[in-house]
Amino acid sequence: MVWRQSGGIEWLEASLPRARVCFTTRKGGISQHSYESLNLGVLTDDERASVLENRRRLAEALGIDGRRVAMGRQVHGSELQIHGPGSVEPHYLDPGEMPREVDGHLTTATGLSMLVLAADCLPVALSGPGGVAMLHCGWRGLAGSIIERAAASVGATEAAVGPGIGPCCYEVGEEVAEAFSDLGPGLSQGDNLDLWEVASRKLKRTGVERVQRADLCTFCDSDRFFSHRRDRGITGRQAGIAWIE
Ligand SMILES: [Zn+2]
Repeated sequence: MVWRQSGGIEWLEASLPRARVCFTTRKGGISQHSYESLNLGVLTDDERASVLENRRRLAEALGIDGRRVAMGRQVHGSELQIHGPGSVEPHYLDPGEMPREVDGHLTTATGLSMLVLAADCLPVALSGPGGVAMLHCGWRGLAGSIIERAAASVGATEAAVGPGIGPCCYEVGEEVAEAFSDLGPGLSQGDNLDLWEVASRKLKRTGVERVQRADLCTFCDSDRFFSHRRDRGITGRQAGIAWIE
């Protein structure tokens, strides 16, 4: 992955076969205080006008069409939504009506982007002959097999795992660690779980040959990232975005 920037906005970029994937940081937006500055989540106490301006600037920086950015109302589930070539995607610039409750998006179409929001959870992109997927992966979604479902749908051969809370900071209860006991040893150190490695092992087990990882902890790096846990819920959202070129 490589760092890129445009107009003050900084993001981490990965190339997958057929797809471009961007993981945003908090840099380059106009939101203030706890939401400084590129907060992309409207379901926060940030000013909605600021979030929409941030979204507009991000679309411009990435060179994507803001009127065609697929999003869901994220519920830590494992449901996937397929977006066809003619699908209407107004929520990014006009978040009036709630989008569908879904944590993963798939497409084979060009001209539309898929976006998930995160602030500790992992944004994960997959690509294969059957299309491209963008997933919001917290431990519940991972335990609910969102990666396996998306990988099967697109026949994934490559994937990119974005920034999220790292093994340095992700203290969990026993039931969370146990949810991944089938993935083999070495995922936990004390009470801390390595969610990056959970995602990697799941990807590899489904047949993904190449996994690119950011290995950047959102909790540790307050200059770059929002972190729900570090900021005790009063924080913004960064994004993972994927589209077929
Ligand atoms: Zn950390």
